[in-house]
Amino acid sequence: MSADADVVFVNGEVHTLGEPDETYEALAVRDGRVSRLDSDYEVDFSVGVETDVIDLGGRVLLPGFVDAHVHFATTGRYRVEADLRDAADRGECVDALREQAAASEGWVLGWGFDESTWPDGAPTRADLDAVSETRPVAAVRVDMHTAVLNGVALERLDAAMPAGDVGEDGRIVENAVDALYEAVEPSPAEMRELLAAAQRHANARGVTAVHDMVRRSNAPAVYREMAAEGDLSVRVRLNYWADHLDALEELGARTNHGSEWVETGAVKTFTDGSLGAGTAKLSEPYADSGGTGQWVVEPEELREIVRRADAAGLQVAAHAIGDEAIEAVLDAYETETPNPGKMRHRLEHAELATDAQIERLAELGVVASMQPNFHRWTGADGLYADRLGPERRRGTNRFRAVADAGAHLAFSSDSMPLDPLYGVAFAVDPPTGEALSVTEALRAYTAGGAYAGFSEDRRGALAVGSDADLVVLDGSPWEADELTDVAVAMTVVDGDVVYDARP
Ligand SMILES: [Zn+2]
Repeated sequence: MSADADVVFVNGEVHTLGEPDETYEALAVRDGRVSRLDSDYEVDFSVGVETDVIDLGGRVLLPGFVDAHVHFATTGRYRVEADLRDAADRGECVDALREQAAASEGWVLGWGFDESTWPDGAPTRADLDAVSETRPVAAVRVDMHTAVLNGVALERLDAAMPAGDVGEDGRIVENAVDALYEAVEPSPAEMRELLAAAQRHANARGVTAVHDMVRRSNAPAVYREMAAEGDLSVRVRLNYWADHLDALEELGARTNHGSEWVETGAVKTFTDGSLGAGTAKLSEPYADSGGTGQWVVEPEELREIVRRADAAGLQVAAHAIGDEAIEAVLDAYETETPNPGKMRHRLEHAELATDAQIERLAELGVVASMQPNFHRWTGADGLYADRLGPERRRGTNRFRAVADAGAHLAFSSDSMPLDPLYGVAFAVDPPTGEALSVTEALRAYTAGGAYAGFSEDRRGALAVGSDADLVVLDGSPWEADELTDVAVAMTVVDGDVVYDARP
């Protein structure tokens, strides 16, 4: 038995991102765990004849990113179906759907359009009818709560969609969009293709662990099959939609049950909608529509979900964007659970949290699960200025205030897009002015997610004994002029190189 390392990384700038952030030249890995953090000279003693030696060439090495809120199947769909995110206008969006129609059978699906910067507005039923008059066509908006259908799709889903969620010109929202998701649910083989594509993308962005939000999906079974066959290269924490609460209670599934690859996370529930769709629940009316949003789950039902989940040993992850919804979630955690901090109950998004709500978040020990990439909409000419007016758009996504209050802050992408460094760039230079330091932003994307997943003892910061889940960056985020210029050079999960873009 030798104590030789399986792999060593030398000649680098290794940041632990612990408190304090310590730096080393080199790191050794044995049996999937960090076995040494030290100088090149000292780590060289761990090198045996079978040890892989990876020369970092001065690059920065960090703990791998934990993306604490993803929709992995959707990320896969962006790779496998029409990706509408980069369409510059409505015409490009329709062109991408036409291409997808030519390359596929059955449903024609496109994902992630964002008309907020288009001169000619969102696509309409007529645009999608022009893609096909014989096959169902759907384009889902970036917020995932809004979609547009063609005539065939509207007819096919008619019985499943509540009339109140079906608008003009083929536009549907909320529960009608859920009916669409059910209709296009992938088969197990299709799901495996989507998850494999998402996993490749996540690894290429430096992500080593994800918290996936799953609902009436075969994804959990497919993940477990991939893990059993050694095909997972991200660690997966499953946050199950509240529809599954009966089943989770019956099975005795508890938060943190599972393996080092696939584990049970939280029960996920909504409260309100989104700012993009004008359905987030606000205490003061929207600047454009004059409405105040809508409940997707009423506060009374939310309290019952929280009460039942907590009693069953299940963490809760509650989506709340508007201040009214945030208040309802904090109330539910405070009144329905003996100790919200112990279960690390989560508040997803918290985009319009007030000062008082941020204080309460910290006091209750609730995890603020927030998305720095949402700052793409908070600029002076952005979508939030339209929806909320010039003043309120500045009071969104307040990471600085959350950090200053001492609340637990976990960053994630919500798959819009799945790209931690894109988010970190916004967190350190947000249009609202409430900036984090580079170290704080990186910690929210590493230690923050690890804490939200009860795994801070082995992930999120590097120490001897922690999982060898690592990311190597091409440049230093502390020294780069533009953070968006820093690229992922290599990703390592469980000691194995799963992505390598080095020349
Ligand atoms: Zn989400």
